[in-house]
Amino acid sequence: MLIDTHCHLASHQYDQLDANQRAELIKRAQAQGINQMITLGAHTSDWIKNLQWAEQYPNIVFAALGVHPNDAALEDSDWYERLDAIAQEFPLAAIGETGLDYFHSAPKGIDEKANKQIQWATLEKHFELAKKHKLNIVLHTRDRQGSASFDDTMAIAKQFAGVVRPVFHCFIGTGNQATQIFDELDGLVSFTGVVTFSNASNVADVARWCPLDKLMVETDSPYLSPVPLRGKQNEPSHMIHTAQFIANEKNISFDKFADQTTKTAQDFFRLSPIK
Ligand SMILES: [Zn+2]
Ligand SMILES: [Zn+2]
Repeated sequence: MLIDTHCHLASHQYDQLDANQRAELIKRAQAQGINQMITLGAHTSDWIKNLQWAEQYPNIVFAALGVHPNDAALEDSDWYERLDAIAQEFPLAAIGETGLDYFHSAPKGIDEKANKQIQWATLEKHFELAKKHKLNIVLHTRDRQGSASFDDTMAIAKQFAGVVRPVFHCFIGTGNQATQIFDELDGLVSFTGVVTFSNASNVADVARWCPLDKLMVETDSPYLSPVPLRGKQNEPSHMIHTAQFIANEKNISFDKFADQTTKTAQDFFRLSPIK
């Protein structure tokens, strides 16, 4: 079996699905051996929808909640108290998605420097919540050029090293950066369908090199559908192509790849195994 460790089932792009179509989406994933999935909340307004998915599909869908860096400056000021209360009541799989995003411009009316400072403070508060509730954290970093968002995220994550383990999701960085994540934070990386793109051979190179017990796989659906479904709306079932691609790159059996990455994800997100 496999686990889609990062999807957004509460995305508005899935809103048109009725109850039957939701059940079909889950069945299509299961038909590919993707028996568990983590749905990520990105802002307070999608948290309840993510929790509903998890409640409707116990031991199949798990929720992790956070504030995406792109939304940090516009988020309700009480997000921290609300997430703190939810984490006491519901068994979350992790805190996130959160992180630093220097790729997108600041929201209208907010200057770039202030936007960065809000992102830093928001990220730090996510780490505090993860520490408080003994959860791990799902991080997003993105730069237009250079690696400032990665470096700044590392600096904040290091304050919590040994306490909160991070996964750097949709990893497109270098082997050197991955090594920092593994050695300095006991963290992980996870790969999306980007690894299958013909114009991202550097990501495939890093996936081929990456120690098998340090990586997870994800869709980030509804975005980033892998080859050969690139351009289509992504969903958890599509992850089979990403998993097969990486196993193939690493020249190991698909079963070995699936077993190890599933074990890594169940451990990281504290999921109970499915027999
Ligand atoms: Zn992300
Ligand atoms: Zn995401």
